[in-house]
Amino acid sequence: MASDDAALPPSAGDGPPVSSGPAAPGVYPGVYKVAIVGSGPAGLSAAAHAARKGVSHVLLERAPHLNDTIFKFQKRKHVMATPAFLPLRSELEFEEGSREALIERWTEVARELGLNVRLGVEVNSISGERGAFTLTLGGGETLQAEAIVLAIGIQGNLNKLRIPGADLPTVQYQLDDPEEYQGEEIVVIGTGDAGLENTLALAANNSVSIVNRVAEFPRAKAGNVALVEAAIARGDIVHLVNSEPKEIEAKCLVLETADGMARVACDRVIARIGALPPRRFVESCGVVFPSDSPTAFPQLSESYESGVPGLYIIGALAGYPLIKHCLNQGHEVIEYILGNIIAPADEGLIQAKLDQAGVQMTVSEFVKSVQQKLPIFESLTTLQIREFLIHSNVHRPRTGDVVFRPANIPILCISFWRAR
Ligand SMILES: Cc1cc2nc3c(=O)[nH]c(=O)nc-3n(C[C@H](O)[C@H](O)[C@H](O)COP(=O)(O)OP(=O)(O)OC[C@H]3O[C@@H](n4cnc5c(N)ncnc54)[C@H](O)[C@@H]3O)c2cc1C
Repeated sequence: MASDDAALPPSAGDGPPVSSGPAAPGVYPGVYKVAIVGSGPAGLSAAAHAARKGVSHVLLERAPHLNDTIFKFQKRKHVMATPAFLPLRSELEFEEGSREALIERWTEVARELGLNVRLGVEVNSISGERGAFTLTLGGGETLQAEAIVLAIGIQGNLNKLRIPGADLPTVQYQLDDPEEYQGEEIVVIGTGDAGLENTLALAANNSVSIVNRVAEFPRAKAGNVALVEAAIARGDIVHLVNSEPKEIEAKCLVLETADGMARVACDRVIARIGALPPRRFVESCGVVFPSDSPTAFPQLSESYESGVPGLYIIGALAGYPLIKHCLNQGHEVIEYILGNIIAPADEGLIQAKLDQAGVQMTVSEFVKSVQQKLPIFESLTTLQIREFLIHSNVHRPRTGDVVFRPANIPILCISFWRAR
């Protein structure tokens, strides 16, 4: 990774921003009430709430700075704060804005609240259960904690291309500073938000093409799609539709297209093709996944507790994809560890949908009902179903109502109501 922004004050990204090395002796002697692993939005929010409540805690981060995933966003990235309708519940403020402003503000808050942070320490193993966990850090040091919050995200386990040439030095899976590249022919593989944002930023100074299996961008946010489509229409970006990468050569990407094989000249390939839960490490802590699928997320209770009593999982590793969710979960998990029963931030939104449709169930009952009655959702975790419901409309058809017409196929809806 290239050096960080010269524009940032040293505290906001260069070097340890809060504290590093061993925790100051006597700050929290003995066993921590909670050890939080990972300082992304989820872990940082948990540590901030623990600090606010005076709970003895340690926040362990393997990078030399807080928030490694956001730190690695492309420079000057516009960070989105969706879903707008979801209330925010965290000591960390969050509004849409630049990556740099976000890093700076959260670093300040971490200082103001006096978080007990250790940077540059990787947690290699976790054993034990509620009341008596042992964490082993790189270097062999051990720490004790009564509860664990695992907030390590999934970005440490990026998907890589599996085609000949994928290991060439001209292939990269991260984009630090788009302005480092000038006058190159670059092909971006990946049509999610990361791929689209890289494409847009690089197109200012390079000839950029984006490879797309289909012709639309179903996985990206509407704002990014609109910008990319406009750039394609202006001719600023080449859209390689219905194309599948097959091989990378020194200065060329070979594609299989609807019209046969094609060769695209390129100096560099940037592949943004997602990430998967770091399953081996998580399973080594005793946590169980609901299926063998590499895309499965750990099964958790409604209070984010895994099958290991006292070990909680939040954030991207819990299957929630966005920063706002992570922040809320960090706050909530500390309340749960303290034994306080609070409804998750999305509870009111989902309950309102059920009430409006006349479904006389609590959110928990409804989620369980979906899990039991719709086999297609069996492998989804409780949290993923809640997330799905937030973005769904709930209908309660009466006998004789037309539920769907073949043209718009809400098959899941049909299965559910038949099953009842
Ligand atoms: C390119 C890109 C753009 C995105 N843009 C947006 C956006 O605009 N808006 C939005 O809401 N969301 C966005 N997201 C999603 C968002 O970044 C994630 O949802 C969020 O960062 C997840 O937070 P987290 O705390 O769960 O994990 P992460 O942010 O991934 O943090 C995990 C932390 O754990 C540390 N860690 C990992 N393993 C260990 C270990 N063994 N020991 C110690 N530390 C460890 C890592 O170094 C890291 O700092 C984007 C994601 C990507 C990849």
